[in-house]
Amino acid sequence: MNQEFLTPKQQELIQKVRELSKTYILPNAAKWDRDQIYPWEIVQALQAEKLMGVWIPEKYGGLGLGVFELCLLVEELSRHCGGVGVAYAVNALGSFPILLGGTEEQKQEWLPPIARGEKLISFGLSEKISGSDAGSMITKAIKEGDEYVLYGEKKWNTNGGAATIYTIYATTDPNRGHRGVSAFLLEKGHPNFEIGYMEDKMGIRTVSVHELYLNGARVPADRLLGGKEGTGFANAMMTLDRARPGVAAQALGLAQGALDLTIEYLTKHSGEFPKSYTYEDGQFFPDEWESAPKSSEQAIQFRLAELATKIEAARHLVYTAAKLIDAGAKNISQISAMCKLFATDTAMEVTSECMSLWGIEGCLRDHPIEKYYRDAKITQIYEGTNQIQRLVIARNLLRSFSA
Ligand SMILES: Cc1cc2nc3c(=O)[nH]c(=O)nc-3n(C[C@H](O)[C@H](O)[C@H](O)COP(=O)(O)OP(=O)(O)OC[C@H]3O[C@@H](n4cnc5c(N)ncnc54)[C@H](O)[C@@H]3O)c2cc1C
Repeated sequence: MNQEFLTPKQQELIQKVRELSKTYILPNAAKWDRDQIYPWEIVQALQAEKLMGVWIPEKYGGLGLGVFELCLLVEELSRHCGGVGVAYAVNALGSFPILLGGTEEQKQEWLPPIARGEKLISFGLSEKISGSDAGSMITKAIKEGDEYVLYGEKKWNTNGGAATIYTIYATTDPNRGHRGVSAFLLEKGHPNFEIGYMEDKMGIRTVSVHELYLNGARVPADRLLGGKEGTGFANAMMTLDRARPGVAAQALGLAQGALDLTIEYLTKHSGEFPKSYTYEDGQFFPDEWESAPKSSEQAIQFRLAELATKIEAARHLVYTAAKLIDAGAKNISQISAMCKLFATDTAMEVTSECMSLWGIEGCLRDHPIEKYYRDAKITQIYEGTNQIQRLVIARNLLRSFSA
């Protein structure tokens, strides 16, 4: 990618993360993936470089940059490992709710340790029975005096085992549907709050994804996000609008990483190609063969050109969405959904095609291309499946014409 339009500071950030990725991710990614080991080495290196809260304002201890820089970092990390990319990005997903809906006191209390990288945060919205239809959640928070008591189970909590802060959504008024949903801040070790079953996943295996059990966890009322009941669902939706470019950036990094590796392979490895043909009975028969780099075959070059063009198109969509968010644009749902849809579908297509270009070798366990392919799949599902992204885009399109 031509990065000349990035500021020197942005280029410096990418360069720094690239160096850290080569030192900490490249030698370990296959092992972390195979054995589901959390990537603490790279997380600690990012903490040491003060890169864990780039999107958090300076007054809360962050670098005061934006979703764009978040995306640049997630893309770079994901070029080397998609699991590490999401382990990092989920801190934005977990902290956006506080930035968007927290009281000033909550921001001052909860954001600085996240910005310094001392604490990781996760986002607890989904449940067994409520994924796409998040508003139908059944986890409940019952007010008792100055406290709320939480009962229920959260599912698919990314960073669940590694995080120490959890943004948890629960209904405070089941009769009001999604308008009865509220958000709470919980910490690991809180009585009757348990980090449960860890999923054995197909991809992004280095990052832990857990069930969370709330067995009557009693929290003081100042843990209610924004100090107001019923604002949780809107908070979650606004959060997802801002976080989806991060998933798209993860997909972008995966696609770019897979393509780079494939081009290197095709230029360094030779294949046998027909040099001349004989035409007989309406068919061409090769009669002389020659050895040449696989990349010299025009049919292969055309496939590479198409994949690279799609990646670049995805990149522009992701960067535009992120920049619009940072510019404070009013309606970001549509562009955010578009970049997530296009970049993640592109990642799936590119990683699948790259696997074909590697041939049978690319399908072997522990081969980096096979890992890129497995890591890419989830990007089409989490933070709203790509069917849900289509719904979001279509609703926005239709609304703009019926207004
Ligand atoms: C590895 C992993 C990590 C995750 N991390 C988190 C996390 O950190 N925090 C969190 O809260 N959640 C997390 N999730 C949950 C994730 O966001 C949900 O899995 C996702 O929203 C889809 O929900 P579901 O799996 O229940 O599928 P369902 O909602 O049951 O959907 C099943 C299928 O039906 C389709 N569908 C559903 N409704 C519609 C509709 N109205 N129109 C058209 N098609 C529809 C879907 O597109 C999908 O294809 C994670 C999931 C995974 C797998």
